[in-house]
Amino acid sequence: MEREKRIMLACPPMNINELLEGMGVPPFTPTVDHSLAKCADCSTDVWIGPRQREAAGRAPRATLVLCMECAIVEQHKRGGGIVGHLGGGDGRPRLVR
Ligand SMILES: [Zn+2]
Repeated sequence: MEREKRIMLACPPMNINELLEGMGVPPFTPTVDHSLAKCADCSTDVWIGPRQREAAGRAPRATLVLCMECAIVEQHKRGGGIVGHLGGGDGRPRLVR
């Protein structure tokens, strides 16, 4: 499938809380159901959620796992577009030290 038509799965990079610092948003906490994946563009480690992982596993050639920064760049290239949310956010928080 052409890259522009693939569904972007925007995942928080591991340093998401550093990026969000001072922006007044609650810190991101991955849940026990999150696992690590790599951004397709910059290879940074990202937290992929269970629904995103399922979507990527079901349709690897129709999806694009990107960190949030690359996802924003990709979205600009595409001239905007819709960012969907797969739901979730209700998992048990993982303890991160
Ligand atoms: Zn990236």
